[in-house]
Amino acid sequence: MNEKSVLIIGAGPVGLSLAVALINKGIKVEVYEEGATLNNEIRASTFHAKTLEMMDQWGVIDDVLANGNRVEKLQYWDRQQKKLVANFDYSILKDTTKFPFRLQCPQHIYTRTIAPRVEDSPLSTIHYGHKLVRFEEANHGIHAWFQTEKGLVKKEGIYLCAADGADSTVRKFLNLDFSGMTYEDRFLLIGTQVDMNKIYPGMGPVNYIFDPEEWVIILNLINLTRIVFQVPQGESNETALSDSSISRRMDRFLEGRVPWEPLSRSIYRVHQRVAETFRVGRALLLGDAAHINNPASGMGMNSGIHDAWDLATSIEQVLTGKGDEVLNQYSERRRSYALESIKTYTAKRFADLGAKDPEAQKKRNSELSNTAQNPQLAKQYLMRASMLDMEVQ
Ligand SMILES: Cc1cc2nc3c(=O)[nH]c(=O)nc-3n(C[C@H](O)[C@H](O)[C@H](O)COP(=O)(O)OP(=O)(O)OC[C@H]3O[C@@H](n4cnc5c(N)ncnc54)[C@H](O)[C@@H]3O)c2cc1C
Repeated sequence: MNEKSVLIIGAGPVGLSLAVALINKGIKVEVYEEGATLNNEIRASTFHAKTLEMMDQWGVIDDVLANGNRVEKLQYWDRQQKKLVANFDYSILKDTTKFPFRLQCPQHIYTRTIAPRVEDSPLSTIHYGHKLVRFEEANHGIHAWFQTEKGLVKKEGIYLCAADGADSTVRKFLNLDFSGMTYEDRFLLIGTQVDMNKIYPGMGPVNYIFDPEEWVIILNLINLTRIVFQVPQGESNETALSDSSISRRMDRFLEGRVPWEPLSRSIYRVHQRVAETFRVGRALLLGDAAHINNPASGMGMNSGIHDAWDLATSIEQVLTGKGDEVLNQYSERRRSYALESIKTYTAKRFADLGAKDPEAQKKRNSELSNTAQNPQLAKQYLMRASMLDMEVQ
């Protein structure tokens, strides 16, 4: 369909999803990744039903499902009272989606699962060790320069799609505003193997545990439990990651009653930020390069993958004769979604986790409990949490 390729910067979950979406439409792509291999960082692990539906269309769903843990229950607990606040059962979505569950699969496993689709296709290549340093528009296309082991390399394409993450070189090169805020709390991720039922009988595989002092999130992946702790302002990263601090946190949480061993540990600062536009000429932003939010609801990467779906459709429309303004519409649609929907929803869910005011806690708990017990409201709640309530073109 296109003589020159679409250039994708970044082989993270969003860049590779865009590559798969474009090659499925017969569009040539070249992916450039600064790392020598795919990134290994422990970050996202939640894939929502809407995203699984896209993977189904792309023909990668079986491989992805094989690498993740299907979770059919979403629970909220009160840590101080050690009480179940609400239990949502995803089976209520069984008439709405082929995927009435959420999948827990680390993002570095997702990228490794879909990368072969891109590497094996005659329409695409992944170039590792290529760091984008600058670009410019020329001759109805785009020229981009990459730093490589062999020096500076120049490539040409029709569009440059920035999936180069929160520190996006493309966004900075374009001098785009990325305003928003940074949270005081950081997220400490501990990978371990632990049976939570000894402390919280009846606890399911995914749990948000409210606590005004120290909230906790528990996510069960295949063969690993990921425990996420709030790290308050005033505690340094070094302290939070030290053996003594991890032992103190875990023993307090598990009441010293359950054996555990830290298999991995990492800490993240989290933000809510949206770029001022997702399009400047032939440069298009998506994923974390365009928007970041606090990860408590597991929506950052998912919404980035939805950007990829939308952008692939938009690029196809331009290449098959629709006007170029389709790409402005991509920018407006996805930017207002990031601002009005994802940002508001994730901020609310995050505020709920550590609510300090006893009245606010009572209200939160009774609202959640009532919602979970009313089938119509529970369905609406899970449609929203699964990102099924939104249309992606
Ligand atoms: C603790 C934590 C938990 C999270 N949990 C979830 C979750 O459960 N669900 C969810 O939806 N989201 C979650 N997120 C958010 C999720 O991790 C990100 O939204 C996701 O990684 C964004 O993917 P991306 O491909 O846009 O960017 P990235 O994953 O950051 O990938 C960008 C890629 O671009 C490459 N790159 C950067 N600059 C250049 C350059 N100049 N040239 C070439 N290559 C370049 C990088 O090496 C990298 O491989 C979480 C985030 C954190 C911090």
